[in-house]
Amino acid sequence: MAKILVVAETKNGELRKATLEIMTKARQEKLETDAVLVGSGVKGVADTLAGHGAGTVYVADDASLDIFTLAQHVAAVADAAGQAQATQVWFSVSEMSRALAPALAGRLDGCYVSDVMGIEMSGGDLTVIRPAMATKVFQKVKFSKDGVRVLTIRSGAFDVAEATPTGANVVELATPEADARAVAKEVLKEETGEIDLGEATTVVSVGRGVKGPEGVEFVRPLVEALGAAYGASRAVVDSGWMPYNAQVGQTGRVVNPDVYFAVGVSGAIQHLAGMSGSKLIVAVNKDADAPIFSVADYGIVGDLFKAVPILVEEIKKQKK
Ligand SMILES: Cc1cc2nc3c(=O)[nH]c(=O)nc-3n(C[C@H](O)[C@H](O)[C@H](O)COP(=O)(O)OP(=O)(O)OC[C@H]3O[C@@H](n4cnc5c(N)ncnc54)[C@H](O)[C@@H]3O)c2cc1C
Repeated sequence: MAKILVVAETKNGELRKATLEIMTKARQEKLETDAVLVGSGVKGVADTLAGHGAGTVYVADDASLDIFTLAQHVAAVADAAGQAQATQVWFSVSEMSRALAPALAGRLDGCYVSDVMGIEMSGGDLTVIRPAMATKVFQKVKFSKDGVRVLTIRSGAFDVAEATPTGANVVELATPEADARAVAKEVLKEETGEIDLGEATTVVSVGRGVKGPEGVEFVRPLVEALGAAYGASRAVVDSGWMPYNAQVGQTGRVVNPDVYFAVGVSGAIQHLAGMSGSKLIVAVNKDADAPIFSVADYGIVGDLFKAVPILVEEIKKQKK
C-alpha cells in the first residue's frame, strides 16, 4: 500500500496553500498520509495538518533550522520518511523543494520526478503527469524501479478542501547537526507588499506592449481592482520595468491561478510554460494573431491603453 509523506511548508507562520492542495489530493485519493514540518516555530500548524488528513506529523522545530540549509533539512525529512515508512514523499514546487527533493531521492536511493500536474493511483502504484518541452507536451511517467517516489507538485494542480483542525499526533524529530561546510547566516527578504505570485488566485501579467514603466503603473489599477498578484514577461523584467521576481515563464515563476490576465504579452512559448496551466486565461493584445490567443479563453483584440480602464470600471461596478 502507498504511504505518503507530505513535506509541509509555511510562510509567516501559516501553512502554504500549495501544501494544503497536496494534502487535499492525498485525502481525496484516500491515501494513508503523514506530514513533516522542518523549521523554527513551525509546530503550531501541526493541528491544521492533522485536520487535512495527516495521521502523524513529524516535527523538527529548532532555531538552527530557521534558515534553509540542505544538509539539515534533508536529514530531517529522511528521518521522517524512514519513521513513516513512506513509499512516496510529496513536495510542492518551491525554491526549497527544488534543492531538497532530488537530494532526498538520492539519499533514499529513490526516484525523483519534478513539476507534477496530475497524479493517478492504481493498485497502490503511481503514474504522474508532468509537462515537458516548455509545456508543448505532457508526459505520463511510471516508475520502473522500486524505492521511494519523490515528487514535486505544482501549485494550482489541485483545489483545497475545507478542514477542521484536530489534535495532531506529533512525533518530535531529533534536530540534525548543522553542516559546518555551508553556513547560511541571513536571508534578506524583499518587502514589496505585493501578493505572492505562487499563492495568488488571480494574476495579471504585463508584457512589452505596456511600452515602459509608466505602462506598468497604468495597468496597476486592474491588478488592484482584482486583488491580483502582479507578474510580467521576461521582456518587461529584462528592460528593468519590473523586478525579476515578477517574471512568469520557463525561466521565471510557474503559476496556475484561477484567472490569468495577459496584457500586452505576445505569448511566446517560454511565457506559456509558466502560465498555461491557469484555469481561465484572458488576453488583451492588439495583434489578433498573437500566440497568447491560442491558449486564451477570453480575448480582447485591441489597444490595452483603451481596454484596461474599461475593464477596471466594469470590475468596480461588478464589485458594488
Ligand atoms: C531560454 C529562454 C527562456 C525564456 N524565458 C522566458 C520566461 O520565463 N518568461 C517570458 O515571458 N519570456 C521568456 N523568454 C522570452 C520569450 O521568448 C519572449 O521574448 C518574451 O516572452 C516576449 O515578451 P513579451 O510578450 O512581453 O514581448 P513581445 O514579444 O515584444 O510582445 C509584446 C506584445 O504586446 C502587444 N502589444 C503592443 N502594443 C500593444 C498595445 N498598445 N495594446 C495591446 N497589445 C499590445 C504586441 O502585439 C505583442 O504581442 C525566454 C526566452 C529564452 C530564449
